[in-house]
Parts: sequence; C-alpha cells; structure tokens
Amino acid sequence: MRYETVIGLEVHVELATDSKIFCSCSAHSYGAEPNTHVCPACCGMPGMLPIVNKRVVDFGMKAGMMLNCHINRTTTFDKKSYYYPDLPAAFQTTQWFSPVAVNGLVEIETKDGKKGIRIKQIHMEEDAGKLVHDIREGTTHVDFNRTSVPLIEIVSQPDLSSADEVEAYLDRLKTLLRYARVAECEMAHGTMRCDVNLSVRPEGATEYGVRTEIKNMNSIEAIKRAIEYETARHIDAVENGTEVLVQETRRWDDIKGKSFAMRTKETAGDYRYFPDPNIMPVVIDDTWFEKIKASLPEFPETKLARYTEEYALTEYDAKRLCESIALCECFEGAMKVCGNAKDAANWMISDVMKTLNARQMTYDMLKLNGETLGKLIKLVADGKVSRPNGRKILDVMFDDSRLDPEAYAKENSLIISTDTGLVDKVIQAAIASDPKAVADFKGGKEKALMALFGKCMKELRGNCNPQELRTLLIDAINKID
Ligand code: ZN
Ligand code: MN
Repeated sequence: MRYETVIGLEVHVELATDSKIFCSCSAHSYGAEPNTHVCPACCGMPGMLPIVNKRVVDFGMKAGMMLNCHINRTTTFDKKSYYYPDLPAAFQTTQWFSPVAVNGLVEIETKDGKKGIRIKQIHMEEDAGKLVHDIREGTTHVDFNRTSVPLIEIVSQPDLSSADEVEAYLDRLKTLLRYARVAECEMAHGTMRCDVNLSVRPEGATEYGVRTEIKNMNSIEAIKRAIEYETARHIDAVENGTEVLVQETRRWDDIKGKSFAMRTKETAGDYRYFPDPNIMPVVIDDTWFEKIKASLPEFPETKLARYTEEYALTEYDAKRLCESIALCECFEGAMKVCGNAKDAANWMISDVMKTLNARQMTYDMLKLNGETLGKLIKLVADGKVSRPNGRKILDVMFDDSRLDPEAYAKENSLIISTDTGLVDKVIQAAIASDPKAVADFKGGKEKALMALFGKCMKELRGNCNPQELRTLLIDAINKID
C-alpha cells in the first residue's frame, strides 16, 4: 500500500524588538552574563504587572499580513499553565482565545508546482528561560535573560507532505518575515525553532493517523532527517505492527539519527488556559491597522519582476539581490543616486556581497547606506576614483555607514590625478630606473611592460585610469630610440 505523510508545523520565531514583551528589559542578551537582563516582571515575582510592548503587536500584525492572515481587531492574552524550572511564573503568557492573526495562506514551490499551505493562526507569546546543565558539578543553573523575549508562534494546518515541502515552507516564512523586518529567523541563532507534527495514512484516506510531535528542532537538515525517520517508523508500525503508535511528544537525537519518546502528548485541557486578568484586550483600531498595512514591504516576487522589467537586470542578478531586503534597499538607494541600475547591481553583487561574505555577515546585517554607495559608484563611473581604490573606500564604508566617499577620497589622496605633468614625470622616472625592462619590451617581450606599469601605478597610488596609463607608457617607450 502507498502512504502519504501528513505534516503540520508550529514555528516559533523570535521578534526583533529591542525590549521584552511585557517589561522594558532588553530582549538581546546574547553573550551577556546570566540573569543580567531581568526584572521582577519577567521573573514572575508576585504582584508585578505586565505592560504589553506595542512593537510586539505591530510586528505580530505585520507577520500576519505578510502571511495573508485575517487580523483579529480585538486580540487577547491568556495564561497557559505548566510547571518547569525555566518558567518562573509557572505559566506562560500567550494567546489562546483570540490570537492576533488567523486563517492565512503561504504559497510554496514544490516539484509538482505551486502549493498553498494554510496558516491556522499566529499568536504572540513570551519565551522561557534557559537551563544550563553543569555535568561536572552535577547541578543545573537557570538563566532568565531569555524569559519574556517576544515570540510569535506560526501554526500551520497539516498541509505539508514531505521534507522538501517543509524546507520550502520554512524558507518562505523566513523570506517573508525578514522582508517585513520583524524577525531574523536564523535557526542557528535560535531565533527560529520548529515543532513537527507528523502522521501517515493510506494514500487517498480522509482520516488522519496517530500523530506524534517532535519538539524544538533547530536545523533544517535535522528536520528533514527526522521527518524521513518518523515517516518510516509510522509506516512500519501501521503496516507491520512493529509497535503501537501513541500520540506523544518526541525528541530527535541527531547523532543517533533516531527519535525518542519524551512524554505523552498534553491536550489543550491540560494547560488550563484562561484569560490573563492583568492584561486588557488589545483593540486594533482602523488607524493602527492602516498604518501597519502601509508599512508592509513590496513582496519578493513583485520586486523581482520590477528589477528584470523596469531595470533590465538579468533574472540571475535580480534573484540574487532579492534574496534579502537589506540588499534590495541598498541597491535601490544606490541606483537613485548613480542613475545606473546595471552599475549598481554590479557593485552590489561583485563587491558588497563579497565583502559581506568575507566578513562572515548575513545579507540582512548590511548597514551600508544606499545613497552613499551611489555616490561612490558615481565617483568611479565619472573617472574620479579608480575601481580598485573605490573598493578600498567601500571597505571603509562598511565600518562607517555615514562616511562621505568623496571627502574621504580627497583626504586620503585617492582621487585620479588630472595633472598630466605628474603622470609624465612618474612615467619618465620609471623608464629611467629600469633600462633593462625598456629594452626587453622594445625587443618584443610584452611582459616586461608589467614591471614598469606596476611601478607607475604604485607611485600614483592607483589614482589613474589603467588603460590610459598603459597607452601613455607605451607611447613614452616608443619615443626612446
Ligand atoms: Zn524584565
Ligand atoms: Mn508556543
């Protein structure tokens, strides 16, 4: 019998707000001492009151709109009860009765064409702390820096049916949320984590099989392996009776390449959800709704079409730029100033992206100001700065996004010399210093020119047009008898 895999995902995404969801503690504590980004509110001390961070709601709405969801105009926070040492209040403040966004749709590319994945809901909630196990001491420490860092949880319907589709879906979420600049979505940084719900059923069946959930996956390779393993395990159980499947939560061990039972699956009732009496319902009026809607970015596909049609970029170049909203914004800013799309795309792809890679930065980490880049491109296009020196200036601009390239070029003698007398002098000096190279070149050894050329280039600090210098140099040599 042929089986189909039925997969639904719960994806937790850390929102890129400065502060936590219900207090003013900083949400960014990467590398900080444990328990230094905490206050009585996020530590769940008795009597403390939460205050909703408006940016979190902004970002929740934005995420919902990017994923074609309906936005609930009245959205409420609820308490989810469970006890765990990294959860100081013994409940998680989340959304249950009226999440910020519902009924969305995300389109993905599959091997059989486009497929729509329905989004059940997106809810806002707080993250838990972190347990740090010290094996030598035999103790466990708890770090509350991450408690109450804002998350959205994106819950899909069980519309996915393979590891490849899951990968395409996660990529699509990443792209859309990054475009809206609401989240980093970097699994390796823990800013995107994924729970996989999976069951199998005979192809064409309408009823679902027994479902298991693999929690807290944080690499796409592990997710794909886990899906393949679970699918095989389920089919084996159904077909050969190797084991009795139960609804449960499982843990994936990537080293062993196996999943292990953690606990039988809780049902919603176990969590005793109830409205948080300390948080008033959040009412999203028309002004607020329209403001967020107006702030949405152009969708990647729209951008891609515009780049190839309006700016006549190649499909390949356009696609590379559209990988990241930060690249797109820099490119568009640069293009406005230098007035040449091809030139701007060229600089972006062969210089800016290369520098990012060399510095081990993600594309979204680009801080370069597009207009400043445009000014630099223009300086080079107008023949005022040589291309290699332009690259040097770009490197400095990476560290100082407010740098004025022209002023910097002047201060550091990186402007191409228009003083023909100087160039002549340099050429004559080079010729005089190396009669052997001159004789070799005249004797037909083309390569001998390189030594002379290099000398001149160095003396002029790269401030000349290489083709022009070459011509002038050859002319000068030919004048010698
Ligand atoms: Zn706090
Ligand atoms: Mn959750």
